[in-house]
Amino acid sequence: KNGLMAGKRGLIMGLANDKSIAWGIAQALASEGAELAFSYQGDALKKRVDPLAAQLGSDMVLPCDVSDVASIDALFDTLQEKWGKIDFLVHAIGFSDKDQLRGRYADTTRENFLMTMDISVFSFTAVAKRAAAMMPDGGSLLTLTYYGAERVMPHYNVMGVAKAALEASVRYLAEDLGKDGIRVNAISAGPIKTLAASGIGDFRYIMKWNELNSPLRRNVTQEDVGNSALYLLSRLGAGVTGETHHVDSGYHVVGMKAVDAPDI
Ligand code: NAD
Repeated sequence: KNGLMAGKRGLIMGLANDKSIAWGIAQALASEGAELAFSYQGDALKKRVDPLAAQLGSDMVLPCDVSDVASIDALFDTLQEKWGKIDFLVHAIGFSDKDQLRGRYADTTRENFLMTMDISVFSFTAVAKRAAAMMPDGGSLLTLTYYGAERVMPHYNVMGVAKAALEASVRYLAEDLGKDGIRVNAISAGPIKTLAASGIGDFRYIMKWNELNSPLRRNVTQEDVGNSALYLLSRLGAGVTGETHHVDSGYHVVGMKAVDAPDI
């Protein structure tokens, strides 16, 4: 195969359906010649992920529930056995009880706080360690975050706290793994209508607000995120690590409602 990612192999974690951000990233990587493996959570998703993987020429579709360390170990054991080494990893996983993605952050329960941190934060650290052990020639790791880590966004609540911790993890992992030529970055994506996003209260309003008030006056697409991911995961991003890169139509630079934005 030809292209920017020719001869490169990597794992995509967090593909649920063709609306997933992971799908935009997988398509961009495959179009540049990357060879992909996918992990999915739970049997119900396998029948969705199998045909998507096949569309990109992959039959490496492996189960992994990141809330279970044994399941993470099993995934990397299989990958080790089949491929021996990898060049990149995409972590597009997050989860919180949707009843707590509305209302007040102050009402977050301890149980949901710990679960959200485990699945949305610790899992990236856990997979980074195992992926790095399979990257003797260096590599690139990428996770997905959101502006709710930096500023209060409606209903994002405990997920914002988790994303702040995830972004800090990116910086610490960048230092730990940089000596081995492994880069670690995050993309802070603007709102995109996915399964995970549908759990967030007033998501349609949030999307409309972003569309009307971001400098580009539009929402980002899976393809936008995929192309920026390609840059960070390929040699084009060779000098970049520890970074949270905003792919959000510039929304994060804005200080107030645009003067031309209609009331919504
Ligand atoms: P999605 O629902 O398509 O993907 C979320 C994935 O997380 C699913 O594949 C799901 O199976 C997986 N997951 C949840 N719990 C898991 C577990 N215990 N083990 C393994 N996998 C598990 O939604 P998405 O929006 O594509 O989300 C991908 C990432 O992008 C998430 O980290 C999300 O927070 C982030 N993000 C999304 C948006 C947005 O607006 N959609 C914006 C910024 C960041």
